[in-house]
Amino acid sequence: MAYVCMHCGREVKTIEKSTVRCPYCGYRVMVKKRSSIAKEVSTD
Ligand SMILES: [Zn+2]
Repeated sequence: MAYVCMHCGREVKTIEKSTVRCPYCGYRVMVKKRSSIAKEVSTD
């Protein structure tokens, strides 16, 4: 499952469930890259 960072917009193909965070900017809000329905995933 690919994710897209809500901050920098980079695509993250591999992500750890325990540490949902963008490896590029460190932002913690990622959205699943799937069709047109975006669901936010937060670890707070
Ligand atoms: Zn990012």
